[in-house]
Amino acid sequence: MPKKNYLLTPGPSPVPPEVLSRMAEPIIHHRTPQYQEIFKEVCEGLKFVFKTSKPVYTFTSSGTGAMESAIVNFLSPGDKVITVDAGKFGERWGKMAAAFGLDAKVIKVEYGKPIEPRQIEEALKAEPKTKAVYTTLCETSTGTAMDIKAIAAVVAKTNAILVVDAISGLGADPLDTDLWGVDIVVSGSQKGLMIPPGLGFMSVSDKAWKLVESAKLPKFYFDLKQYKKSIDKNDVPWTPAISLVIGLREALRMIKAEGSMEAVWKRYANLGEATRQAFKGIGLEIFSSRPSNAVTAVKSPASVDSEKIVKIMRDEYGVSIAEGQAEMKGKIFRIATMGYISEFDIAVGLSLIERVLDRLGYKFEFGGTIKAFQESFVKGELVNK
Ligand SMILES: *Cc1c(COP(=O)(O)O)cnc(C)c1O
Repeated sequence: MPKKNYLLTPGPSPVPPEVLSRMAEPIIHHRTPQYQEIFKEVCEGLKFVFKTSKPVYTFTSSGTGAMESAIVNFLSPGDKVITVDAGKFGERWGKMAAAFGLDAKVIKVEYGKPIEPRQIEEALKAEPKTKAVYTTLCETSTGTAMDIKAIAAVVAKTNAILVVDAISGLGADPLDTDLWGVDIVVSGSQKGLMIPPGLGFMSVSDKAWKLVESAKLPKFYFDLKQYKKSIDKNDVPWTPAISLVIGLREALRMIKAEGSMEAVWKRYANLGEATRQAFKGIGLEIFSSRPSNAVTAVKSPASVDSEKIVKIMRDEYGVSIAEGQAEMKGKIFRIATMGYISEFDIAVGLSLIERVLDRLGYKFEFGGTIKAFQESFVKGELVNK
């Protein structure tokens, strides 16, 4: 029998067949009423997912392009910023700030822990000229969700803007952009939004827009003023990734069909919780002290190199999960519960993880993950009820 592939990685994540077939349709031209109609629906759908009444800009880039856009459009060389480094992706904010000549205060947080909002409060007090705070909703490398609501409450009291990388967290971890007062949210297409890689997104508050006029960092492709001019006409300045946008319309329709983002968040909260319970069911520990519902990072048993688990699962069985990055290499593995990954996909992943752990000499009772997983759903609110 041919190998059946399962993608349980925190980006790219699987794409629903309905979306794939729409993307296979013949290409259409983008400077047409037909395309503008599609893009208009996409922009509305993005506002629904981002929980904002402000426009959400779409870039042809991976998520990192949207991150870069969230720097170059709002700041000038030498501007003071705070970046939170609680993992590989928070570290990226710091690297970008350095690349663009910003004066960055990097707050280092132990991997697996969230930043305490108090730490940001203190850093802002120490440097009142800070223009922006850069952090992450779900730190994908550690499976940690930051307390964005509390951080936003702290930043809102100052002149600084809050920028949140929600590339992996969007859709799975709660993020109430307007209500919480998050100024800029950036995301990408290949995680919770259920389409292939290639699109980046950014929402911008009125407070953040005020910085656009004075920002002197060089930019051209990501120049937000160009995007603002065209978005009112349901257009973009450069040729868009037409097929991805058409796929996105389909994916957004699926999300909207659930009624509210609160309902979507709840579904992933149940799935995330059941997944965490599953690993505890065979005596394993969750790496994060404030786990995200988009991805679960699990500590590998002391005797087992997590790289081996990932490699055997992928190369011998076609089931992809993710390794630990940087100093977490070999010590943790990560399984995604975002986008088009259902409870049944996770059940497949869990049963294979058990087989592989057994092969690698870890002692536990077979079926322990699945038992705890099932019990969590039956005790909690069942996803498909
Ligand atoms: C995946 C990811 C990124 C990087 O996005 P690319 O699409 O690879 O550029 C950035 N931040 C977080 C939190 C991510 O999970």
